[in-house]
Amino acid sequence: MSSLFNKLLVAALPALPRAFIGRFARRYVAGEQAGQALSVAKALNGRGFEVTLDILGEHVNSPQEAGEVTAAYVDLYHRIAACGARANISLKPTHLGLDLGRVLCRDNLFQVVSAGRETGNFLRIDMEDSAQTDDTLALYSDCRDIYDRVGPVLQAYLHRSSDDLALILSTRLNVRLCKGIYRERPEIAYQRPSAINDNFVALARQALEGGAYVALATHDRPLISRLEQLIGDLRLPPERFEFQVLYGVPMGGKLQQLQSRGFKVRIYVPFGEAWYDYSKRRLKENPDIAGYVLSNLFKKE
Ligand SMILES: Cc1cc2nc3c(=O)[nH]c(=O)nc-3n(C[C@H](O)[C@H](O)[C@H](O)COP(=O)(O)OP(=O)(O)OC[C@H]3O[C@@H](n4cnc5c(N)ncnc54)[C@H](O)[C@@H]3O)c2cc1C
Repeated sequence: MSSLFNKLLVAALPALPRAFIGRFARRYVAGEQAGQALSVAKALNGRGFEVTLDILGEHVNSPQEAGEVTAAYVDLYHRIAACGARANISLKPTHLGLDLGRVLCRDNLFQVVSAGRETGNFLRIDMEDSAQTDDTLALYSDCRDIYDRVGPVLQAYLHRSSDDLALILSTRLNVRLCKGIYRERPEIAYQRPSAINDNFVALARQALEGGAYVALATHDRPLISRLEQLIGDLRLPPERFEFQVLYGVPMGGKLQQLQSRGFKVRIYVPFGEAWYDYSKRRLKENPDIAGYVLSNLFKKE
């Protein structure tokens, strides 16, 4: 799919009917309600997958909205515990009010972390665009002061990630590595796919050699092969890492292959009423994803 075509498709987004975006969203979003997401999680558990649940949304406009999102995440931890799903939670700091102030966001995060602690569960703090990196890492470290089972995300496209990793690296670190989904300037971020991939592998080596637990989040199969090679070279047991993918992304049997090697695979399952805006924003932020939309539309389920 040419990138010019993708850009044209994205330019046409406002004119596209909600149903079109809905076709796209259905594949990647587990419904609007927590109950639907938990059903999806249990079904994925039944196929041997771990899950991380995310309530869709970001950049809230008021403390009240941030409070409602916080309450929804607290409730979600209790619902996960009640139904016995093997699922943790991933959330975005701007969804908990980071744009409105770090103190407000931290207070909200602490409520979610407390619910995680009460239910013995883990919290992943997603990484957003580079304007948020410093605050997000500071919030992560605040959370770690009150609960051990909280983990950050580092993005392989950012030049700074290796230094950030060095600052937080320990055997108690649980870090997710991903390429990074936002558009970042060449001054701060690698642009060439091969440079991003090389940095991904370098960060994985740095984190694994430093004793961290590493979640390797990518759909890029050649990159996954390089990571499997690294894991083999380092002779790591499966308890030291997991692979992660987004719900609905076609992986052509690769996930089952990883499972058959005894590796843990976790699926990131987003849900919530904000699916429409979320899907549109994702498409605008990365026009290349528009190519996936079309190919998915015409692919048989
Ligand atoms: C579990 C998980 C958590 C993430 N958390 C964050 C985060 O906290 N912060 C952040 O900035 N980014 C996050 N990302 C997004 C990530 O940074 C990448 O932007 C995204 O995964 C695409 O990169 P890739 O590694 O899959 O490689 P790519 O080279 O972009 O993709 C490899 C192949 O996978 C397929 N593919 C990739 N994405 C899709 C899609 N959405 N639909 C259909 N096919 C697709 C395509 O066929 C593509 O050729 C996360 C990704 C995953 C899997």
